[in-house]
Amino acid sequence: MCTRKISLQADVIIANADLPYVYRELLPPGRKSRRLSRMNYSCSALVLHWGLDKQYPQLGHHSTFLADSFREGLDKIFRDKSMGDDPCFYIHAPVRTDPSAAPEGCDTLSVAVGVGHLDPDHPQDWQRITDQARNAVFRKLRKIGIEDIESHIKFEIITTPGTWEEALNVTKGSVFGSLGHNIFQRGYFRPHNRDQRFKNLYFTGGSTHPGNGIPMVLMSARLVSERIRNEQKRNKGEKS
Ligand SMILES: Cc1cc2nc3c(=O)[nH]c(=O)nc-3n(C[C@H](O)[C@H](O)[C@H](O)COP(=O)(O)OP(=O)(O)OC[C@H]3O[C@@H](n4cnc5c(N)ncnc54)[C@H](O)[C@@H]3O)c2cc1C
Repeated sequence: MCTRKISLQADVIIANADLPYVYRELLPPGRKSRRLSRMNYSCSALVLHWGLDKQYPQLGHHSTFLADSFREGLDKIFRDKSMGDDPCFYIHAPVRTDPSAAPEGCDTLSVAVGVGHLDPDHPQDWQRITDQARNAVFRKLRKIGIEDIESHIKFEIITTPGTWEEALNVTKGSVFGSLGHNIFQRGYFRPHNRDQRFKNLYFTGGSTHPGNGIPMVLMSARLVSERIRNEQKRNKGEKS
């Protein structure tokens, strides 16, 4: 959260931080920030980053673990803003293709578990949810013959929805957007990449056009740069 306000002059401003945060925290209050606060937000992620003194070749570069109770898991995330008892998760093991990602014989793993976003209307005990996620991951790994991973974790960094919000100003810790992608938040309905009041303020990133995910975020950077170039050309033409 930004606590110090400074004043800067610029011909063009491109805001790359989370769009709802920019309207809420960096711009004067207005209708837009109130409308954004009522919109639908994406889910969040709990990520366990582990440094291990052992390698686990059973895990490929990318491993996805699905659960039988898939539907219930989604309800837990989106309806209860929590996490199911048997969550789906993804493990990234970069050492498989880049040995420099850990010392020889060691491993670095990142485990991403989908969870609900921050919501004061729901009781959310992140310590309990984190413990539950860790145990669920250990349980699932035991099923594929990885029995001893917990005792080989030498370093651990955990990011929760609160971490995303505090460290990166992502509204509600909704890291996949942050705005969701339902039909009324796509295309024309998604916040536009130029502000209506401040005509030289532009946006890029997951909460403007076209949407979330690295390919779309890169497209949003291209779209906004093309728009600025075209508008600057037009403005120069009108002046001359
Ligand atoms: C665990 C996880 C896994 C993911 N996996 C994938 C994947 O496999 N494929 C995929 O396509 N996408 C994936 N994503 C989504 C992808 O990371 C996002 O879509 C993308 O990072 C969004 O880009 P962005 O520029 O909108 O926001 P960000 O990447 O969050 O960038 C915004 C930047 O603004 C900065 N900022 C915030 N406030 C201020 C301020 N006041 N002043 C200056 N700077 C500020 C932040 O520090 C941050 O660096 C994943 C996300 C997560 C969390």
